[in-house]
Amino acid sequence: MYPSLKDKIITASQELGIDKIGFTTAAPFDHLKNSLEEQKAKGHTTGFEHPVIDERLYPDKIFEHPQSIISIALAYPSRIKNRPKSVRGEKRGKFARASWGIDYHHILEDRLQRLITFIKTECILEENLNFKPMVDTGELIDVAVAQRAGLGFIGKNGLLITEEFGSYVYLGEIITNIPFEADQPKENQCGSCTKCVDYCPTSALLGDGRMNATRCLSYQTQTKGYMPEEYRPKIRTIIYGCDICQEVCPFNKGKDSHFHQEMEPDPEIVQPVLIPLLSISNREFKEKFGYLAGSWRGKKPIQRNAIIALANARDKPSLPHLLKCIEDDPRPMIRGTAAWAVSIIDPKNIEILTFLNEKILKETDDETILEFQKAITRMNEAFN
Ligand code: SF4
Ligand code: SF4
Repeated sequence: MYPSLKDKIITASQELGIDKIGFTTAAPFDHLKNSLEEQKAKGHTTGFEHPVIDERLYPDKIFEHPQSIISIALAYPSRIKNRPKSVRGEKRGKFARASWGIDYHHILEDRLQRLITFIKTECILEENLNFKPMVDTGELIDVAVAQRAGLGFIGKNGLLITEEFGSYVYLGEIITNIPFEADQPKENQCGSCTKCVDYCPTSALLGDGRMNATRCLSYQTQTKGYMPEEYRPKIRTIIYGCDICQEVCPFNKGKDSHFHQEMEPDPEIVQPVLIPLLSISNREFKEKFGYLAGSWRGKKPIQRNAIIALANARDKPSLPHLLKCIEDDPRPMIRGTAAWAVSIIDPKNIEILTFLNEKILKETDDETILEFQKAITRMNEAFN
């Protein structure tokens, strides 16, 4: 019965809101073990990964008698239909594509649940059928599962690249004790292309599909403390995530899927005006941005990134607002980042220099004092 069940699932998948589906065995992914251990030992991991390596590689460590894994992909848009009108003097930031629309974890969870319900309905007389759905917060490595299930290949940017939708896909999977016939894995098709590696602004990609994730701007925009100075100019005006290694990939050329209403971005939200973000209340942040994947770390990283984006845009109208942050904001990291920003935007402003010299005296946090000192030095140097 399982071959016919597989066919039924494939036929129904479109109606269930799934754009691509594949099947693989529940065999271990042990060929990745050395690589994962090496990456951890070299400090190339961020701590956002599932912490137990063996649970990422051996499905039988997280599921009783696993027989197969169903991998699904949902294609997301790469272009905004109605960009916000640009108004002179009003700088906007940008959320990367994976944070457009409703948080993709919820969308994937919904599709995985629909799929499980479908299978259960088809197998109503069968007992003891078990399922464990997972999205990228789960144990298994989504791209490795999807590649082995034939959904696409893993590019040098470490992402799964499908023929139909490029890498603009969200991935999820279900481990089950149903023994489905496995699909054929896809071979890498990057060939001699190295665009993603060459264009990555922080040289985070190692060239073999792996990355030093701590150097990736996607990670750097999600941390809660100070962003190291090296990365600040590199985020430009992107306040969450990074899409560069996807944008330059030839397999993404012309790919722009609009299949799911929940993924359609609200332009005012995913390209927000930056200055109001500096003083947004918790409540307003939650109301406006709470449904985005990009809000999962709260408002602080987004506000820090907004300050950095204003500095990168050399936005003089933001100066009074940044000075207000230095004066009033209760969070040292925000005050220190704002001190850095004003010294970048207007390094030869004597009033601002005097202001910073006054405000540094009130700081007690070592990192924040250092940020103020560096800003003051930068401004003093600008006068010489
Ligand atoms: Fe580099 Fe950006 Fe890709 Fe990260 S997301 S690897 S920073 S290009
Ligand atoms: Fe592969 Fe080139 Fe795409 Fe990178 S940009 S994933 S090297 S095809």
